[in-house]
Amino acid sequence: MPESLIGRLALGLALSAAIAGAGVWRRALTWSGAAGALVSGTIVFGLGGLAWAVPMVALFVSGSALSALGRERKRALGEVAAKGARRDLMQVLANGGAATALALAAGSAGLATSLFPAYLGVLAAVTADTWSTEIGGLSRRPPRLVTTLAVVPPGTAGGVTPLGLLAATAGGLWIGAVGWLSLLLEGGPAAIGLGAALALGALAGLAGSLVDSVLGATVQEVRWCPACQAATEAAVHRCGAPSLPHRGWPGLTNDAVNFLASLIGIPVGLSVAMLA
Ligand SMILES: [Zn+2]
Repeated sequence: MPESLIGRLALGLALSAAIAGAGVWRRALTWSGAAGALVSGTIVFGLGGLAWAVPMVALFVSGSALSALGRERKRALGEVAAKGARRDLMQVLANGGAATALALAAGSAGLATSLFPAYLGVLAAVTADTWSTEIGGLSRRPPRLVTTLAVVPPGTAGGVTPLGLLAATAGGLWIGAVGWLSLLLEGGPAAIGLGAALALGALAGLAGSLVDSVLGATVQEVRWCPACQAATEAAVHRCGAPSLPHRGWPGLTNDAVNFLASLIGIPVGLSVAMLA
């Protein structure tokens, strides 16, 4: 690790450019998404070092790998989601915005050790949501709305399946384990033990997924295509017809809900670290 801030930022820029470039090449990121990943990765690596950067890479790698799962089945569900498999700038900000802000706060105020559990909690919540979407989407059982438990079509905002919740918990555990390992790798003072890191990941993951579902079922904007008689998140449906407001708060997109849900990782992460 270079000693100076400029050296670390330069190394972070080089590593982020390699990962963002691979993301564009593998069609996991759009160009705007790659630009967001570049800025976010440079800040996280430059200010947080290896221990902060590795869990973020773990989020990105697992998300890209899982999006290839059951591609045909997911394409059939493409009706509902506004965006394709490639993440754009808003999706990158929704997933990495809170984590990047925590890295900025930690780096500028010298709080890297005390804010690390909050950072890990945010990443666990985001990863859990990604895993539950990618794996839960393959569920043979139809999802139920988290608020009323009514059966809803696959891909509906706020719909949950047992498989999806299990996947959310697993995604959180993965981030907890990687976070603990990356602290070891860096050789810094252990902010958190293995058991606490796993508990933090699982709890933040499950909480993030549930908050995401509750917001998705209540306030997230859902639009309606009058031509196809189908729910959609896009302003212009894939058939070309403009969609109409259906329910939720106008402008509160899936990306905004993902960002808000990721914030639950902060209190969960800090509480687990305090109690452990
Ligand atoms: Zn339509």
